[in-house]
Amino acid sequence: PVNINALADEYLRLSYHGIRAKDKSFNAKIKTKFDKNIGTIEVIPDDVARVLLNLYNNAFYSILEKKKLLHDNYVPVIEVTTKDLQDKIEISVKDNGLGIPEKIHDKIFQPFFTTKPTGQGTGLGLSLSYDIITKGHGGGLKVNTQEGEYAEFIIQLPYAVKGE
Ligand code: ADP
Ligand code: MG
Repeated sequence: PVNINALADEYLRLSYHGIRAKDKSFNAKIKTKFDKNIGTIEVIPDDVARVLLNLYNNAFYSILEKKKLLHDNYVPVIEVTTKDLQDKIEISVKDNGLGIPEKIHDKIFQPFFTTKPTGQGTGLGLSLSYDIITKGHGGGLKVNTQEGEYAEFIIQLPYAVKGE
């Protein structure tokens, strides 16, 4: 049994501090809305932590890239929300970075697809995350995005994996 709110919070801070260790001037507004009705859920903690880290690192990367383009007047925000949906829970990770162009919406979950320069991305983060959430936990992973505005990744996980 894993306390998903604690896990989501811990790895958010870890990711943020990792980025700030490399770039001291980096600042983002961190918003969290954790649903207290979520008790614990039955998941493999290391796997879900890896998914969260992937999503957080992608979000901060996108924010950093947008910052390079906009300089002033841009307030980077990352928002992490959890919700109790009766038989399952939802975790949303939303950033106001570059967003994702419509023509690559279908590609981002494919292994080795990356828009990052060589050496900066493997293109494996989202495909691995998708497998962990769907095949590994019987859940779902979806994206909701507006190019230039935001990207939101939504994880759904059942409270307990059925079968086996
Ligand atoms: P990588 O991070 O190594 O590129 P991922 O599988 O994690 O691989 O992501 C694949 C691609 O999806 C990224 O290269 C990027 O184009 C896009 N992407 C993922 N997350 C975001 C995000 N939060 N904002 C904008 N683009 C994103
Ligand atoms: Mg990634």
